[in-house]
Amino acid sequence: MAQNVNNIKDHVDLFHQPEYQELFENKKQFEGMPDAEKVKEVAEWTKTWEYREKNFAREALTINPAKACQPLGSLLAAVGFEGTLPFVHGSQGCVAYFRTHLTRHFKEPVSAVSSSMTENAAVFGGLRNMVDGLANAYALYKPKMIAICTTCMAEVIGDDLGAFVGNARQDGSIPDDFPVPFAHTPSFVGSHITGYDSMMKSILDTLTEGKKAETTNGKINFIPGFETYIGNLRELKKIISAFDLDATILGDHEMYLDSPNLGEFEMYQEGTSLEDAADCINAEATITLQTYTTPKTRKMIETQWKQKTLTYRPWGIKATDEFIMGLSELTGKPIPKEFELARGRAVDAMTDTQAWLHGKKAAVYGDPDLVMGLLQFMLEMGVEPVHVLVHNSTNAFEKEAKELLESSPFGQNATVWGGKDLWHMRSLLFTEPVDFIVGNSYAKYLERDTKTPLIRIGYPIFDRHHLHRYSTMGYEGAINLLNWIANGILESLDRKTDTPAVTDISFDLVR
Ligand code: SF4
Repeated sequence: MAQNVNNIKDHVDLFHQPEYQELFENKKQFEGMPDAEKVKEVAEWTKTWEYREKNFAREALTINPAKACQPLGSLLAAVGFEGTLPFVHGSQGCVAYFRTHLTRHFKEPVSAVSSSMTENAAVFGGLRNMVDGLANAYALYKPKMIAICTTCMAEVIGDDLGAFVGNARQDGSIPDDFPVPFAHTPSFVGSHITGYDSMMKSILDTLTEGKKAETTNGKINFIPGFETYIGNLRELKKIISAFDLDATILGDHEMYLDSPNLGEFEMYQEGTSLEDAADCINAEATITLQTYTTPKTRKMIETQWKQKTLTYRPWGIKATDEFIMGLSELTGKPIPKEFELARGRAVDAMTDTQAWLHGKKAAVYGDPDLVMGLLQFMLEMGVEPVHVLVHNSTNAFEKEAKELLESSPFGQNATVWGGKDLWHMRSLLFTEPVDFIVGNSYAKYLERDTKTPLIRIGYPIFDRHHLHRYSTMGYEGAINLLNWIANGILESLDRKTDTPAVTDISFDLVR
């Protein structure tokens, strides 16, 4: 049946129409699908301990990865800088994936170009694509900087970005002094956070070349990391302003990924000025707000720039206290009064709600810094993490997570699962159920399958709107985390008690 333009059905309704139902039935027969009884039997078996053991013995296959690929992180790093156009050397399909992945989360356009490599380039190398692509991108989109990363294809054939950019300059594609940082971002290793780190390092390395001065400029640099909560950038700016700090945020993608609709499309939305970024080599110190998204960048700052670096992850009360006190110590400035009030409000909210979270068992997954931040907060609330899964894990992360969990009475029953995927998480949830899971939108399949209530915190969040506008760090961030987790638990409680005379023993207005 053709769609009626006056009554366009959403796909949810559309696929219930008889012609689609018939089509699905025919498809099953065409594919030789086993009968429904057999499917049910196997599905039940996949919920058992026996299957879990087989699942965890799996080595050469990933099912439902809880990570994205390297170039995606490079794009996020690049768009934090003024007038910067991300340029992906590789196939077009890859860059379409990065753009849509970011756009679906932030609900903002993300402009990135590709060198559009096809079969020819795969055989003969992508030099011509790069030379022409840079010339076109420079002429058409008039960027102030082009940040190049690679896809798997370019890496497999071994294209040399440094040499290619040199050739493009010789050919006149871009001016000699035009900044073109580049990062090799092979996606068969690492993840989006590796790509973020490589691009951030390259941008800072490129812009600061020859800029080292005799004395410092008295400023402090802040690197937010792979930050998908725009509210965190605003929170950081509030803290900088309250302390009256002379600071540079490297890179500041707040406007790019949360731009106001003023009626005209702006391809480049503010971001860290290239001038400020070039001078960051002369700062007093650099503070990173994530640990595992900036190891190479921090190493460069310490060893090449000889600049002090500090890392804080201000999620929850204790870690925010440490950040605020650390800033006071570093700058010699007193702690502004407003933080005392903000802290008091967060502590008050946590006290009001603690009874609903205390002793609740949780599963959590995501990027290493996000998971560490969540653990910091959840342990403060008396939540008991049981399954802690990080696909893009490292030994350092696992050590830090285990130490934190062991230091708390609420962390004693937790297991840290490094390098595991969401199909592993499914087995964990069926065999050792928990009260709720914290994760990104992909966990909605786990929620439906295992009936574990999902609290959406992380990246990407595609199926709920505007959560990324809030903060997760600082005292206000603690209230947001509390709000999401506690109200998620209360909603699930209402759902569980909503059948009159059956489950409504305690269906109550007041919680
Ligand atoms: S994993 Fe490789 S091929 Fe796939 S989208 Fe990422 S860069 Fe492209």
